[in-house]
Amino acid sequence: MLFKIPRLYDSHTHFIATGEFASGLYLTALKNAEEIAQWDLSKPSYHRGDWLLGFGWNDKDWSVKPSKEILDRLFPHKPVYFAKGDGHSSWVNTAALQALGLRSETGILTEAEHLQSWDRLPAFSNEQQKNNILAACQVYNSAGFTHVRDMTGTESLWNSLCELESENLLTVALEENFTCYDLKGFEDSLKSAQYTRKHETALLRSKGVKFFYDGSLGSETAYLSKPYRGIPNGNRGRTLWSLPDVEVMIKRTWEAGLEISVHAIGDQAAHEMVEVARKVSAQGFVGRLNLEHAQVLRPETILMMKPLHVRCHMQPCHWLSDRVWLQEKLRDLYRYAFPWEALRAAQIPMSFGCDSPVEPPSFVRNQKALVESVEARIKKFTGSIEEVHAHPDSQYAPNSYSIIEDDVVKEVVFCGKRLV
Ligand SMILES: [Zn+2]
Repeated sequence: MLFKIPRLYDSHTHFIATGEFASGLYLTALKNAEEIAQWDLSKPSYHRGDWLLGFGWNDKDWSVKPSKEILDRLFPHKPVYFAKGDGHSSWVNTAALQALGLRSETGILTEAEHLQSWDRLPAFSNEQQKNNILAACQVYNSAGFTHVRDMTGTESLWNSLCELESENLLTVALEENFTCYDLKGFEDSLKSAQYTRKHETALLRSKGVKFFYDGSLGSETAYLSKPYRGIPNGNRGRTLWSLPDVEVMIKRTWEAGLEISVHAIGDQAAHEMVEVARKVSAQGFVGRLNLEHAQVLRPETILMMKPLHVRCHMQPCHWLSDRVWLQEKLRDLYRYAFPWEALRAAQIPMSFGCDSPVEPPSFVRNQKALVESVEARIKKFTGSIEEVHAHPDSQYAPNSYSIIEDDVVKEVVFCGKRLV
């Protein structure tokens, strides 16, 4: 099959993390905690400040488990921080514990300690940040993408992107959103979005603010209208914001002429977000609501979207990873899972993406998911994948297209210049 797609767009990505993962130290191949002694860990891109950083280890089958002693022997003075592949823990040495002001018998940090210490790692240098951006561009371009919507922007990233664009080195058109976790963070994100909006360039656009309303189906924290696995009075997931706070954020973001984007995976999460958007609209405010993931949507929720400015950003490739347990977890709600056909039929605008680095950026995998999910009773998408994978604005970085033939990226042209 041959696809020629204009402005091939990944509508939900974590841009800089994709670059960091591409140029950073991957520990997935590590077969044993002791084996780390044989690895070459000297590359500058493996470091942040004087810290050594790695990702992706999994000790399930290791005969020697990770411990701080192993790292202390190799690195008595340099702080070392190795994040586990599941994203819930990290393996550190004594120098790192001292720098973080933490104690641990084992050198394994979990959950809150793991996440908080991640936030306290030294920042990348300006040069490292630029190299990570270029590494990310390379990842997206080689997968065929010329247009990317980033969910995790910062002002410092924006400034580096501007520098690279002025040096003619930026090979993707990038939309930025600024994520917040509480109301104070919201004010900062709104300010960043407003500041960058004033400094937009030919390739860089500032879109607005993003927040997480619920969790994920995998961890059974996405917010559903019925309990997981059909267990009577069982867990239905959780939400992270109060509805009055959400209302304030939507109002303020729309008033500023910006878009609000919300991570809403469960059907009840999406329903409540659309309800609040409707309430704010009824008060005379106009703006766009982006529903991120939207993996389960009830028909009445889709109906309620129609008069509003809603765009759903879906990642069919998540279905490839979720397919093994999706029916068992959702039971009655399974018929509303991955509702791309229902959205198309209701003419709700939608865009496809890959949520990199959670999944690799890949048009081919999304296409595969659309085909294979039909056998699992996900309603067949009768729209055009080229259309939902193209950036909707033909004036944005025009003269860009990609040719993908038999699952291979054959040609990528960005602003008239051939990249692949
Ligand atoms: Zn994401």
